[in-house]
Amino acid sequence: MTADHSHTGSSRRLQESKYNDVIIIGAGITGTSLLFTLCRYSGIKKVLILEKYGGMAQLNSNSRNNAQTLHFGDIETNYSPDKAKETNRAAKMVLNYLSAIGRKDSAEIYRKVQKMVLATDDGEVESLEKTYSTIKKIFPELKIIGGKEIAKLEPNVVKGRDKDDAILALNSPNGYMVDFGKLTNSFMINAKRTNKTIESRFNEEVISLEEKNGFYEVNTRKGRYYGKFVVFASGTYSLYFAKTMGMDRNLSVLAVGGDFYYSKKVLRGKVYRVQKGGIPFAAVHGDPDIANKRVTRFGPTVSLPLELERGHIETLADYIRTFDFDIDTMISLKNILLDKDIQRILSRNIIYSIPIIGKYEFAKMEASKIVPSIKADDLTIAKDIGGIRPQIIDSKKRALVLGEEKITKDGMIFNVTPSPGATSCLASAYEDARYITKYLGIEFDESRFAKEIGIP
Ligand SMILES: Cc1cc2nc3c(=O)[nH]c(=O)nc-3n(C[C@H](O)[C@H](O)[C@H](O)COP(=O)(O)OP(=O)(O)OC[C@H]3O[C@@H](n4cnc5c(N)ncnc54)[C@H](O)[C@@H]3O)c2cc1C
Repeated sequence: MTADHSHTGSSRRLQESKYNDVIIIGAGITGTSLLFTLCRYSGIKKVLILEKYGGMAQLNSNSRNNAQTLHFGDIETNYSPDKAKETNRAAKMVLNYLSAIGRKDSAEIYRKVQKMVLATDDGEVESLEKTYSTIKKIFPELKIIGGKEIAKLEPNVVKGRDKDDAILALNSPNGYMVDFGKLTNSFMINAKRTNKTIESRFNEEVISLEEKNGFYEVNTRKGRYYGKFVVFASGTYSLYFAKTMGMDRNLSVLAVGGDFYYSKKVLRGKVYRVQKGGIPFAAVHGDPDIANKRVTRFGPTVSLPLELERGHIETLADYIRTFDFDIDTMISLKNILLDKDIQRILSRNIIYSIPIIGKYEFAKMEASKIVPSIKADDLTIAKDIGGIRPQIIDSKKRALVLGEEKITKDGMIFNVTPSPGATSCLASAYEDARYITKYLGIEFDESRFAKEIGIP
């Protein structure tokens, strides 16, 4: 804190009251899990959280807009064994938090369900067997099961399937669907139960950031706020702000939209499909919906909308700025679009978005691979549901990056959070809290955090 000695005691207090130790921009799951972590486990005194919309978790963290899966890496066949281990540790931190707050407070936030990843042709069966041999040590509860056991667990996955078709699954009873929006609220409630000064301001859209005399001045459409440290937990917008501060580290965001279809309840648990390694978005899966026990959700689809927020075409200009149309990014984009697997996924998904016939193609090419008897007439597009995954392009590697990315510099952190960003919230908060407290010279009670939440 730079004290102004010309002030009297009371005016200095007034002056100092404007300053925050940390300003967090974005009240989604990334921002509030960090708020909770800082307030409960560190010596921080004052935190301000600024949110563009009128409430918490209005975008990707809202349960309507994501697939509600606590990812462990066991049924995500596109993850490498290292990514699976990292995701497993992050998911366990969320479970530890839920157990620490007690069943009364956590009952509405999550539900345990069985889960499986399904192979439905010879190639997929072979690939799933290989995956199993590499991850079974990491996930000892994972079982490899054939048609008869699959039929017992998920009758509709087998019913109507050609008897000669190859079918195999990896199954675990330890699946979790999480209402990440309610988890976001819970982080805020438990942060406010500490003795720290927390101010949360909604309908405060941050428009710029400037460094002034060792502080950051955060400008919103309504006012100015000052912080020693600023964290952008702003989802698809974090990289946009990193770029306005001259930090891009060769990264761009490819906005990947994801929508869902509903049917009446046809599955008991989560049924994922075999996905090729390295593809950053999961193949369409079938899931229960935590908010509605009578339905099954199929999705998410994959689209490339020209916006940073779903249905907000006015975010196009910001998307263009975040994308960076330089030569390296354009070559990276060309490489990505020439990838045969990505091409296949995108071309199919373009068809799914065509009115009338889209639903028929989706039923035939996706949903019926999971539930063979399902027909287009059983499906309805889930309106106003779905979000945007800010998939990261690394123009040095000239490729899409799998998972989240953190840019850290001089009292600023920018968190870019595609899937499984909600699962990784506490792992990310731990990393941020360690960095922030070290930077500010504040204590962080790592052993208490490790005891209650775990270590990523
Ligand atoms: C279709 C889909 C399916 C997914 N499925 C899963 C899943 O099953 N499991 C999983 O773990 N993850 C999943 N994810 C990813 C997960 O939803 C996100 O990683 C996570 O919600 C990101 O949280 P966040 O807080 O970083 O971002 P967000 O939830 O997007 O929150 C960012 C916040 O920042 C605010 N903000 C932005 N700009 C400003 C500004 N200028 N001023 C003030 N506030 C601002 C926004 O309004 C918003 O509230 C999925 C994502 C999608 C799109």
